[in-house]
This record gives sequence, structure tokens and C-alpha cells, in this order.
Amino acid sequence: MSLSVAELDSLKLALDGLQQRIQHELRSHRPQNGQVDSGAGDDVVADSLSHDALAQYLHEHHEWQALQRARARLAENISDICSECGGPIPYARLQAEPTAERCVACQSALETKEQRLHLHGHVSL
Ligand SMILES: [Zn+2]
Repeated sequence: MSLSVAELDSLKLALDGLQQRIQHELRSHRPQNGQVDSGAGDDVVADSLSHDALAQYLHEHHEWQALQRARARLAENISDICSECGGPIPYARLQAEPTAERCVACQSALETKEQRLHLHGHVSL
């Protein structure tokens, strides 16, 4: 753990900001909070809207989980430790992406692997 107190504070602030943004977005996308203005014959529109809302929700759920993991990592003082190789995560990377869990090398290796799995997963193995 090589982050200064000031760096930890600003990382915590960044996570707080992220949490507020996600909570705000979840609230604003929740259908029952909107003005339900359902005239007749809106079925198709309503359907596509709820698909969008669901996709949005799942995306934010993923973000939410990343946020909770980042908070746990912060609490354990391992925010700047790569969860993959145990190497250091540069503070600049955490500033850009407060929920980052891996160093740049491990993250790009993971993304390359996922891309390969996505492209060839149904062919190989
Ligand atoms: Zn790593």
C-alpha cells in the first residue's frame, strides 16, 4: 500500500461520487417513478423502453458491484494492489478509474482473453 492519505481521501471521494451517480441513475430509470402516461396503443413503445431500462439497470448493477468491491478494497488498504498479480496499480490509473482492480498489464491481458473467448469460444474446446 503506497497511497498517501490525500490520495486515499480523493479515491474515497471519487467512489462516493460514483455511488451517487449510480443511485441517481437507478432512481431516474425506475419506471414507477416516472409519470405513467399510458395512453392506448403504446404497447410497442413501452416494451422497447423497458428493454432499455433493463439494459441500463444491468449495466449499472455491474458498475454497482465494481463499486462495492472497490470500497472493500479501500477498507482493506489494497486499492493499489492488483487483484491478479499483486503488483502495484499506479495512482493515476485509480484516478481515471476508481474501481480498477487490476494493473494495466493484467487488465489488458484479461480483455484480450475475453475478446478471444468471445470470438472463438464456440469453436475451440
Ligand atoms: Zn497485475
